[in-house]
Amino acid sequence: MKEDKTIEMKGSKKRKKTSYKNFPLVPRVIYGRGCFSQLADILLPKRKNADAPFIFLVDDFFEGRELGQRIPWLFNDQIIYISADEEPTTCQVDTLVTKIKNDFEEQPSGIVGIGGGTILDLAKAVSILLNNPGSSAEYQGWDLVNRPSLYHVGVPTISGTGAEVSRTAVLCGPEKKLGINSDFTTYDQVVLDPDLVGSVPKDHWFYTGMDCFIHCVESLNGTYLNAFSESYGQKAYELCQEVFLGNLSQKEAEEKLMMASWHGGMSIAYSQVGVAHAMSYGLSFLLGTRHGLGNCLVFQHLKAFYPKGVALFSEMLDNHQIELPKNICSSLTDAQYKTMAQIALSMEPLWENALGKAWRNHMDEEKLISIYKKI
Ligand code: NAD
Ligand code: ZN
Repeated sequence: MKEDKTIEMKGSKKRKKTSYKNFPLVPRVIYGRGCFSQLADILLPKRKNADAPFIFLVDDFFEGRELGQRIPWLFNDQIIYISADEEPTTCQVDTLVTKIKNDFEEQPSGIVGIGGGTILDLAKAVSILLNNPGSSAEYQGWDLVNRPSLYHVGVPTISGTGAEVSRTAVLCGPEKKLGINSDFTTYDQVVLDPDLVGSVPKDHWFYTGMDCFIHCVESLNGTYLNAFSESYGQKAYELCQEVFLGNLSQKEAEEKLMMASWHGGMSIAYSQVGVAHAMSYGLSFLLGTRHGLGNCLVFQHLKAFYPKGVALFSEMLDNHQIELPKNICSSLTDAQYKTMAQIALSMEPLWENALGKAWRNHMDEEKLISIYKKI
């Protein structure tokens, strides 16, 4: 991750130069029940003129519902409802960008994403591509974006992924599922209103919440751990235990999970995720399994790597009477198992974080396939 270099400076003074990453954070965040009602005021000073619209990308769950009616559109703003049934793709991003460019002569004032990780990532990517040429697939990777994105606002409506704070927008592309990781991906403004998460169905609440719990377990047990990540990871880990094992009121649980998601996202900014995420990428690529559910399906079988985390996870499942789907992989061919294992193994930084630099001595295709076979 970091490498110390001693460089020769002018005047022959020797100074040590490090190469730590210099991360952007979300510069503005509003938190509180009902604060969505302040969105109009937040957007007003960012409106370039009446012809430069705000584009609201909204989870289609809210179409025709109260939240849909409360979106503070003005002038020629556009609201686009989008299904979160499938995770975002590069093709979807490109289509939206083309549509917005065709619909308006002026560059929009900004993009507002209202939804879960799926919509939040989509909105981040669209805001980047409206100001950068080419296809979104060209930017999947690390630090490939050259120009700032359009002003963008994230409004999470389900808690857990940490997509509201992270500097990545995960997209399924023609060749890979990979994030646009860049300094321009991070939101300019986030609106955290716990009133918005009340309608989340229990299964999604649990799976997406577990994404946060698993982020913490993987970060706190990783070799990349440092005090920065640990401080956020521990807080999120505690909050997850309160939410999923404690006796909180629904309101308290909503508020605490929203903050757990934030801290969990901050924790992995300066470290990495681990085994469950690597393997879940394989499931998602081959079977389209959603991120949160995929992590849970894998994590239940990772006692050897995360004994305490998996024990707590089992308690949480029992506590909320969640039954994970079974026999997800039972009809796969040997070639398909191999593909999943190869995709998982290609996530090198995740393995290095989980098992150390010599991770290849501890993990191989065969071991991974034996775990996939249990799912
Ligand atoms: P999601 O956005 O896919 O939503 C899950 C389901 O909940 C959907 O059916 C959605 O319609 C519904 N939903 C959302 N809010 C609701 C509400 N208030 N009421 C009723 N239903 C609601 O779920 P997610 O788990 O938040 O996001 C998963 C995505 O996040 C994946 O694409 C994953 O790759 C991505 N992700 C991104 C990051 C990041 O840092 N960028 C991190 C982790 C995961
Ligand atoms: Zn995750």
